Amino acid sequence: MINHLITQKNWQTQLSEAITSIDELLELLRLESLRSEVYVPEHFTMRVPRGFVAKMTVGDSQDPLLRQVLPNQKEEIAVTGYVADPLSESTHNPVKGLLHKYQSRVLLTITGACAIHCRYCFRQHFDYSANMPTADAKEHIIHYISANPEINEVILSGGDPLNVTNRRLFAWLDILEAIPQLTTIRLHTRLPVVIPARLDDTLLERLSKSRCQIVMVIHCNHANEIDALTAEYLQRARAAGITLLNQAVLLKDINDSVAVQTALSQRLFTAGVLPYYLHVLDKVAGAAHFDRDESAAVTLYWSLLAALPGYLVPKLVRELPNKSFKVPINIYNDA
Ligand code: SF4
Repeated sequence: MINHLITQKNWQTQLSEAITSIDELLELLRLESLRSEVYVPEHFTMRVPRGFVAKMTVGDSQDPLLRQVLPNQKEEIAVTGYVADPLSESTHNPVKGLLHKYQSRVLLTITGACAIHCRYCFRQHFDYSANMPTADAKEHIIHYISANPEINEVILSGGDPLNVTNRRLFAWLDILEAIPQLTTIRLHTRLPVVIPARLDDTLLERLSKSRCQIVMVIHCNHANEIDALTAEYLQRARAAGITLLNQAVLLKDINDSVAVQTALSQRLFTAGVLPYYLHVLDKVAGAAHFDRDESAAVTLYWSLLAALPGYLVPKLVRELPNKSFKVPINIYNDA
């Protein structure tokens, strides 16, 4: 049995006790029969916190949360058009740790580590070791932002920016808040979903005191990821004045139906989170089996428009390497 008490432990304990053994995961879920379709990757190995596993259904080989984290032999199949760096991020990297792709926003990578390894991740081949800001890079980052007055927002990304200690995170917040032109700090994170206890009181109190507006974009793909405890932590974050948005990736056989997307939007809303983006998959090597073509995405989207109020319909977008914004998908193509 999966021990639900794991979610009562502090977030760092939960982080350190994440499951990294495929055999252990399959035994816990009584899915030993899946051994024939999994493989053991050398890089981007399996990692999944126990609290996230507790949201899966024992005995369900098609569980939508399991399918996001269980390495599948299909990852080894090379598919034309699916590449290591689908967004050419390495070409927008003016300072170590900093990506400047969008006009008024820069993206700051403060860690390469994540609490969970999502098999569809577009950064699964990213060379974090060569792109982490060093101590002296902090000065370069401050200088770069100051020299580009159009930048008013810093997006903390990763890896997962909430994977670092409060101390390290707060040190970055101090640095950024001291740059007068910045009005907004945004965190893109999957931790509130996979280890909700990460939204601890110390973190929420510090964020609520920021002189900048704090936006947290959680990355949640399925309503099953938000159980009562997760919703409670998200509500606390909202009560602390944090704007909560969600960004999902459209994943084949995981969330590519109207029923699942509708349930996701409604569950997010009850937890105080607004749907923001629904991304068509970035064509990263090893993830082709998760992809749905744009035509299927558009058909789904029309149904979502009919099923949900406008404020619960995320924007359907794709990222393109040569565009300085997320590109809305033309839904009139298949109308
Ligand atoms: S949490 Fe985000 S960055 Fe980390 S593996 Fe998952 S999708 Fe990638």
